[in-house]
Amino acid sequence: MKYTRRKFITTLGAGSALLMLPSVPGFSKPVFSGDKKLGVALVGLGNYATNQLAPALQETSLCYLNGIVTGTPTKIDKWKQQYNIPDKNIYNYENFDNIADNESIDVVYVVLPNSMHHEFVIRAAKAGKHVFCEKPMGLTSKECEEMIAACNNAAVRLFVGYRLHTEPHHLAAMKFRDEGKTGIMYVQSEFGFKIGDPTQWRLKKALAGGGSMMDLGIYAIQAARYSIGKEPVSVTAQEYKTDYEKFVEVDETVTWQMEFPGGHVSNSYTSYTTPANHLYISTERRWFNLIPAFNYNRIQGSTNRGQLDLPEVNQQAVQMDTFSQCILDNAESDASGEEGLKDLKVIEAVYKSIQSGTKVKV
Ligand code: NDP
Repeated sequence: MKYTRRKFITTLGAGSALLMLPSVPGFSKPVFSGDKKLGVALVGLGNYATNQLAPALQETSLCYLNGIVTGTPTKIDKWKQQYNIPDKNIYNYENFDNIADNESIDVVYVVLPNSMHHEFVIRAAKAGKHVFCEKPMGLTSKECEEMIAACNNAAVRLFVGYRLHTEPHHLAAMKFRDEGKTGIMYVQSEFGFKIGDPTQWRLKKALAGGGSMMDLGIYAIQAARYSIGKEPVSVTAQEYKTDYEKFVEVDETVTWQMEFPGGHVSNSYTSYTTPANHLYISTERRWFNLIPAFNYNRIQGSTNRGQLDLPEVNQQAVQMDTFSQCILDNAESDASGEEGLKDLKVIEAVYKSIQSGTKVKV
């Protein structure tokens, strides 16, 4: 079947895959009219919000960009003009809580440095807004638990920006274990790039929480978890540094191995120095390979039966439409706060293993 990008968004991405999901207890179905689009406010107008999320919000069919929250007043005019954002929907970090009185904003999308996710997700929940939060969800599992509790208490939904959960090649990776139907699985997942500016927040522990592991290794953890379809029981990890000045506060390169119930294993790599971008799944009789695996576009795949021929989608648009569909239909999501929490538990085990030099239970 040939999919156009738009068709894919309205069919697989935001439609059929979700209709089978159970509804969420404790959350009432919103009383929106049939063609209601959710208003989204982006919090933190940096690279990802500017170059990926705002353009993607021009392609979504269930939500749209109608608010911004920024600490940089000089950014406001350009955003206002480019996206037609009314003055009443523009906030800064101090007056952000007033968003509670703004009925035209349904969702707050937190796209701030990692250390600020916790505070702004909780403030958004207290303001009664549904929340999309970028990865990593928080700096620790405790933070994640507090964020989940705040959203539950406020009866709002919380989603983590796992854009690959609705990407066709990664959906195929999730299905591969069923098609493979064979014994023990081995997964290799690697994501790294060379990081530039040594003064950026990603290299400061207080703002980033960690280095390549928090930023990119989380994709490798995710891929291993959803390829195998189980939760790891233990982790053994190793850290390597070549530049002690640039990476004085955070990890530069990490390798780790995870053991899963049933004897499945994964081997992963992340680095801020040496690029890597790969997902490989092996079962007794079949293999599945993505390279590059984690990009915004041009993901390439093959299996032992030949090349994968899957459509390319606007990942961020499909992701946000899928989350919106979950809100509108009160449906479960596999990119919920609980999913974000699971990754943080693995990351904590990775760091513990590096420190102790031993295998650590997750
Ligand atoms: P940027 O540094 O480009 O932008 C972060 C923005 O946060 C800034 O522009 C600024 O916006 C605001 N901010 C507030 N306080 C600070 C501070 N102390 N230092 C720096 N910025 C501050 O980061 P990214 O956009 O690349 O990343 C933001 C989040 O998105 C991260 O959590 C990252 O992991 C995630 N991300 C996810 C991706 C994905 O594929 N899912 C891809 C890239 C990033 P303002 O000037 O408006 O106040």
